Parts: sequence; C-alpha cells; structure tokens
Amino acid sequence: MSDSLNPNFYDQNAETSTLTNPTLVLNCGSSSIKYALISEDNSIRITGLAENLGLDTARIKHTTINGDKLEISIPGGRHKLALQKILELLEQYHFIAVGHRVVHGGREYSEAVRVDEHVLDEVKRLKILAPLHNPAHALGIEAVQAIYPEIPQVVVFDTAFHQTMPPVAFRYPIPKSLYEEYKIRRYGFHGTSHAYVSERASEITQTKGPHGWLTAHLGNGCSATAVYDGKSLDTSMGLTPLEGLMMGTRSGDVDPSLHMHLKRQLDMSLEDIDAMLNKESGLLGISGLSNDLRTVEEAANEGHQDAKLAIEMFCYRVGKYLASLSCALPELTGIVFTGGIGENSVTTRTRILEVMRHFGIKVDANKNAGLFGGSEGSFHAEDSHLELWVVPTDEECRIAQETREALSLT
Ligand code: AMP
Repeated sequence: MSDSLNPNFYDQNAETSTLTNPTLVLNCGSSSIKYALISEDNSIRITGLAENLGLDTARIKHTTINGDKLEISIPGGRHKLALQKILELLEQYHFIAVGHRVVHGGREYSEAVRVDEHVLDEVKRLKILAPLHNPAHALGIEAVQAIYPEIPQVVVFDTAFHQTMPPVAFRYPIPKSLYEEYKIRRYGFHGTSHAYVSERASEITQTKGPHGWLTAHLGNGCSATAVYDGKSLDTSMGLTPLEGLMMGTRSGDVDPSLHMHLKRQLDMSLEDIDAMLNKESGLLGISGLSNDLRTVEEAANEGHQDAKLAIEMFCYRVGKYLASLSCALPELTGIVFTGGIGENSVTTRTRILEVMRHFGIKVDANKNAGLFGGSEGSFHAEDSHLELWVVPTDEECRIAQETREALSLT
C-alpha cells in the first residue's frame, strides 16, 4: 500500500520509535468511524474520527502523534474509502493488530475473539439484534481484511462483559420459548466501559476487595451496571440499548403497552414508534431543545421549565435505577460515574445522589466541584456510607488490551 500513500498524509515529525507494537482500535458506526492507534504500553495514541459518511460533507478529523489537527475531505465517501484513508494515515506506524468495537455479540460471546469467517458471519447474523450497528462493524472488518489480509483482527463485544449476569437478571418474564428459540433476553451494552471503570475503581480505592460497584455510564447513551468482584451481575440496558435510563434522545423504560396504545390512538407504525423512542425522546423529547445536557442546563438556568423538568427526570431515573441495581450486589462499596455527563456535570452527580437519600451518602462538595474535564478521583466525605468516584472511561484502551489478550500478545 506504500505506493498509494499520499505524501500529504505522511506525518513527517512523527517519532515512530516511541509507538511500539501499536494496536488499531476501530469503532465503525452507521455514518462514522472512530479510531485510535494505541501503543503497547497504552502511553501514546493517535486518534481521529471519520464522520458524515455517505454525504458530501464526509471528512476525517485526525490528530497526529504530535497533537496537530488535520481535516481531510472525502465527499460522498463511505466506509471503505474512509477506512482506506485512515489506514494510509496510520500505515507508517506498523500496527500489529486491529480491535473492533462490536455492539452485539448475542449470547455466544463472553470475551473478545479473533475474527475468522465464522465470527464475521456471526457479527452479520446478529444484525437481527442490532440493525443499526452490526452491519457497519462487519463492513469495517471486511474493509480491513481487503487492504491488510495478513493483520489479525479481533472483535470486542459491548455485550460480552454482561454475560456473567444470572438468569434472574437477564431473563424477561415472558414465555420461555421466546428465550429458548429466539434468544429474547437482557444482553446489556457499554460493557467495555463498565468493565474499565469498575476495574479502575477497584485499583484506586483503599478499601480491600472484593468490591461491589454501581457504575453509571452517562453520556449521550446511558446505562448503569451492578459489578461485583469484576463481574456484571445486572445492568439497565436490555435486548437493545433502548431499555433502562433516560438518555440524550432515547426514552429508556416506558410502559411496553405504549406501542399498542400509540398504534390504536394515533395509527402510528411500529417503525415510527421505534424512531420516536430512539431519536426524539429523552432529554431532547422532554426539554424540546436538545439532547446535549450542556444546552439543557443553560436553558434551565435561565428558567426554562421543560429544561428543568428534563434534568430532574434524568437524575431521578438514574438515582432510582442505581438504587434498584444495588439489590444485585452482595455488598456495596460505592458508585462510579463516567461518560460525558458523569465525568463533567457536577450538579447532575449531586442531584442523582440526592435522589438516593436513604443510602447514607455524604458528598464532599469541594472534591465533587473539582472533578471534570477528564480528572479522576473520589468525592465522598469521610463519614459517607458509600464511596463516590469519577473515572473517565477509556473504551479504546480496554479494547486494545482485550485485542492483545485475544491474540496472546501480552
Ligand atoms: P458522551 O456520549 O460520553 O460523549 O457524552 C455526551 C454528553 O455529555 C452530552 O449530553 C454532553 O452535553 C455531556 N457533557 C459533556 N461535557 C459536559 C459538561 N461539561 N457539562 C455537562 N454535560 C456535559
């Protein structure tokens, strides 16, 4: 491929020697590809995002090893072209493996696996459970295979970490045959994030293990998990990532009869109801303004009543879910916040913990106020019954690590 390398892409100043045995982590979505090239010791990374794929505005935003920003226009470019360009940008670093984030692994996979024909077919087949995500992941795997057939690829499933849930948590109270014949059950998502932050919290706490954590991944997508001794015991997302908490544009839990009611009352189609619950609900639906909490917070501060209600509902639902998930844990060490909201919004963390007022939680307001913008730390007062932590998530790091492990490179 060197022949086709556009010299404009070549990072002349790069210190390639420092980026030893890097792994390329790819997150291929329906209209975007997020990527990170991560050195063996996780100390150095090169990152970027291809966005608006398929549109005239398709482009790659790339940050070089020296922190310089490049923007490359690829009008109308889809996954294959975007990946070709990304691989050209990164080829000089001689990555030794590619790890793909894959949303749905069904119940077959409880850990990362090396891609072969069977695994690729499974990723495609599981489109029935993740129609928006799995086809894009399969495209990414095939595009890399076509360009670099000799580089090993690994898939890291968002669902895998939750495979330790017991049936009492993962089964739905519906006829048994739907589970046995059609695999209808709770799978859970954001697995790499919940795994990473709970493991990190266990590393940094002074409390001796085993630990019981409630992990709250609060971003545009939101989920909460009960993790005991490194194992997921229950989680808020279900068969799909729609169940559970209120999110940026997703409703989270609603009455399952809502579909029937809307069909009868408004003659809405199942597709329209699904789109409404996934794309027009959550913070956006209640505030009528935005799915971005910063915008909603600004409006609430200016007295916008719907924005205020959106924030109150968001926090109430997170608190209520965390309280209920605590039932899954033999003992509870504390709560770990992560994701764009969990890592940055001091007031949201405070409100959520106020909802959980029967848990003996005491917040150290100064410590809480200092935790944003990527900082990690605890914010419980000394006499708090529960520990409180902010741990910035690092799914790429975890995917790179699992990729190396799956290939026995560590
Ligand atoms: P993520 O999907 O993890 O990137 O998180 C996106 C969400 O994090 C959006 O709702 C943002 O509004 C929210 N977010 C990011 N930074 C802040 C901040 N400083 N304060 C409040 N919310 C934030």
